[in-house]
Amino acid sequence: MPSIRLRLTAWNAGVLLVIVCALLLSSYLFVRYVSLEQVRRALDQEKAVVASTVASHANQHAGRDALLTALISDLQTHGLAVSRPPDAPTTIVATPAFIDEDDRVPSRDVAAPTVDWRDLATKLAAQKDDDDPFNVRGPHGTMRVLAWRADVDSMSLTLVAAQPFHGTHELLETARDAALVALPVALLISLLTGYALARRALDPVAAMTAEARRIGARNVHERLSVRNPDDELGQLALAFNEVLGRVDSALEQQRRFTADASHELRTPVALIRAEAEVALSSGDATDGEYRAALEATRDGSRQLSRIVEDLFLLARADAGQTLVVPQQMRLDDMVRSTIQSLRPLADAKGIALETRPLPVVVYRGDEGLLRRALANLVDNAIKYSSRGARVEIKLEPAGDAYVITVTDSGPGIAPKDQPHLFERFYRGDSSRAHAETAASAGAGLGLAIARDVAELHGGTLSLRHSTDTGSVFEIRLPADQANIIIS
Ligand code: ADP
Repeated sequence: MPSIRLRLTAWNAGVLLVIVCALLLSSYLFVRYVSLEQVRRALDQEKAVVASTVASHANQHAGRDALLTALISDLQTHGLAVSRPPDAPTTIVATPAFIDEDDRVPSRDVAAPTVDWRDLATKLAAQKDDDDPFNVRGPHGTMRVLAWRADVDSMSLTLVAAQPFHGTHELLETARDAALVALPVALLISLLTGYALARRALDPVAAMTAEARRIGARNVHERLSVRNPDDELGQLALAFNEVLGRVDSALEQQRRFTADASHELRTPVALIRAEAEVALSSGDATDGEYRAALEATRDGSRQLSRIVEDLFLLARADAGQTLVVPQQMRLDDMVRSTIQSLRPLADAKGIALETRPLPVVVYRGDEGLLRRALANLVDNAIKYSSRGARVEIKLEPAGDAYVITVTDSGPGIAPKDQPHLFERFYRGDSSRAHAETAASAGAGLGLAIARDVAELHGGTLSLRHSTDTGSVFEIRLPADQANIIIS
């Protein structure tokens, strides 16, 4: 496939060639038609004069020669030059007295003939219709003639009215020759100008291509230069820049994710390694010390596997893998069992997990994922509340959705932390204040995962409000996936 530049050039030249050809041909045909018509009219007039003159001599003369002599001199008095071929005396050729408009040479002063006798004889022999004019060569150039037969006094005459035609004839021939030269020149000019125009129009594309080629993963922050944002190429460059912007931020997010992930993994790995090294290096450690080291190692590994699991889940969600395996389930049962599983944790802190009677909600969703999301919220509520506090979990229908709320009476979330809560690896002030041990400290992934789960179900997770007396988180799930039966 040739380049757009060549195709544009070819199209431009082709279209121009067709237009020029059509113009030249139509002008040529027009000029030809007009000149032929003019000559035709002159010939018709001449024929009328000759015919009436011939008719007026009928039955007037005794003998052929007398008739011809009288006829010729009469025609000459009508301003016509008359000549006769030597070998066909009954053929009379009448021509206007002046056959050459430029040098005004009276044709009767010029020794006849005004036409080439042989050419005339050949054409006369081939003539089919009296009314068809034809061209005959002549000593003063091409003549246009109209020939017809007439009988006078039992004599058959061939009468020929001739008009100079060489001016028009030459004009038409010159026009034809000029067209033959003009066409290739026009073609060449259109090819050159077409190529130059296409080149000029497509130059920005070449520049954009070169710029785009230079952009890779390392300099994805660079952008194409936009010369004119209002034209089509400017729009293309803007659209391309927008794509680059999205790729850039996705790559940036990816980079941050990888950096944060490795940072988070480093803490438990360092902890496990340190515990193991201490236990191994002290040769006379007691059973109790070994046990403590093993417990610390177990806690570190738990934290490690929790983070790895979370990362795995987030990576799969990012890769667009189908994480949700929706099944018919009971939302109320899910809430109940989540509370049940976290009760030991709450009891250890003396925190009361409260819930009102829950409506029975049959829902189509991924029970495992929803439980994980809710557990993250309840876990946070327990983690960030003080001893003896209470945490309330509710499940309610709300218009076209089901809303699960987790209300705690913890320290609340600082306004500066609120916009970033759901970002991966984000930990707020409350986290730092309440991290009792390294192992219990979260990695800042809990809310990000819970929000992903809610969104995978077509719903939302938001912080409804938060003050220094507590926070309310809300999971809103669309009701069109469920049938609610309130008992
Ligand atoms: P983490 O594992 O650190 O708990 P999350 O993504 O679950 O990560 O939470 C992000 C941050 O939001 C936490 O570090 C904490 O500062 C804040 N946060 C979450 N839930 C609560 C809550 N119920 N009360 C106070 N702060 C909270």
